[in-house]
Amino acid sequence: MIRTRFAPSPTGYLHLGGARTALFSWAFARRHGGTFVLRVEDTDVERSTAASTQAILDAMDWLGLDYDEGPFYQMQRLDRYRAVVDQLLAEGKAYHCYASKEELDTMREQQRAAGLKPRYDGRWRPENAKGKTPPAGVRPVIRFRNPDSGVVTWNDLVKGDISFANEELDDLVIMRADGVPTYNFGVVIDDWDMNITHVIRGDDHVNNTPRQINIYRALGAAVPHFGHVPMILGEDGERLSKRHGAVSVMQYFDDGYLPEALNNYLARLGWSHGDDETFSMEQFVEWFDLGHISRSPAKFNPEKLLWLSQQYLKAADDSRLATLVTPFLARDGCDTAGGPDLVRVVALLKERVNTVEELADAAVYFYRAMHPTDELRAQHYAAGLGAMVDSLVARLGTIAWDKPAISEAIKATVTEFGMKMPKLAMPLRVMVTGEAQTPAIDAVLELLGRDTTLARIAAERPHLP
Ligand code: GLU
Repeated sequence: MIRTRFAPSPTGYLHLGGARTALFSWAFARRHGGTFVLRVEDTDVERSTAASTQAILDAMDWLGLDYDEGPFYQMQRLDRYRAVVDQLLAEGKAYHCYASKEELDTMREQQRAAGLKPRYDGRWRPENAKGKTPPAGVRPVIRFRNPDSGVVTWNDLVKGDISFANEELDDLVIMRADGVPTYNFGVVIDDWDMNITHVIRGDDHVNNTPRQINIYRALGAAVPHFGHVPMILGEDGERLSKRHGAVSVMQYFDDGYLPEALNNYLARLGWSHGDDETFSMEQFVEWFDLGHISRSPAKFNPEKLLWLSQQYLKAADDSRLATLVTPFLARDGCDTAGGPDLVRVVALLKERVNTVEELADAAVYFYRAMHPTDELRAQHYAAGLGAMVDSLVARLGTIAWDKPAISEAIKATVTEFGMKMPKLAMPLRVMVTGEAQTPAIDAVLELLGRDTTLARIAAERPHLP
């Protein structure tokens, strides 16, 4: 039975890299009919906040990354870590270290001065501490007694074989003086207790993995498989940051992206299935394998994400989009309740926009009179337009209010004045919507309704030459 997990630290929002790691872990579990566990690694007490935890849960929820177990919270498991530490202490695999920060700083300085790599020198290892009296008033940390020699090797599911010499690893602190475990210890106990079979995480953790493997071995626990996913960079090759576009998952929610677009984008970021660019989550789950994760860092391309967003928007159900666009329209000062049927408005506009936010911006004039700028007026209101519009208004007052009849009324009016269609359609569009770019004017007027159309024309009539 395959068991994977996502183990975020709640020290900020869920960023794109974290979301992609979660997505890969989730997909791997789903692909194999396994279990996906969510664990909140909140042991950095100063930086962890309930608001961040909530932000992460909201983002997972929005992306549809459902978990089968959890969320578990490390700070609720302190007794368990303490019990394992006590066992390791009793077996001589861990020990108390009383070295002060100043003392360790001096030690490292001396090592550097001697041309050595700074590392803990084992001064409180049991064999070195014999006869030493622990300094009064110092609460010790607990260190893991790392093996002195040998090599730690694992076959990384993404990167292939990786080895570290134990000589490179020193005795890491596994529990702070206040009884809170460090990341490398908590993560091992949890992955062990939660029977995690595949640890899929960012490759910023590659250096931690040999330390963790040594702890598994000391505990006699089965070592899980590891797959380290390369990070996401900006297009300039720098580590992804705000200057490359939004990095918070929920920013994309706020900006009106559909979750399936972001999922598809993240899935394709550093993983591929032939040339397929757009695929559903079902297909992704069916196809996903760790072997096709790229070994080199992926580059974030906001334009491609926007393109995907447009593809999904076009395909999305109109009623769903109507629900999604409503709060954006409210933010734009539009109450959709008494206005044109929003589902039809959405259907008319969705091909023309990239996000739900753009959809709202494009729909504003259906719910609120928008006045054209003087520039637009000067551009589109030609001499004689007033008389032509008066004639059109007379026709519009009596016709059956549907697209063909509206279109017919416009045609009859331009014919009457010996004009071509755009000579009336363009200024009419500007008068009624305040914009020069809209869908076909007959479709727009049909949705707006006769009363609103005539009222807006009347309001703009004084500006016509
Ligand atoms: N809490 C760690 C992080 O957010 C988890 C790393 C891991 O998955 O082991 O980086």
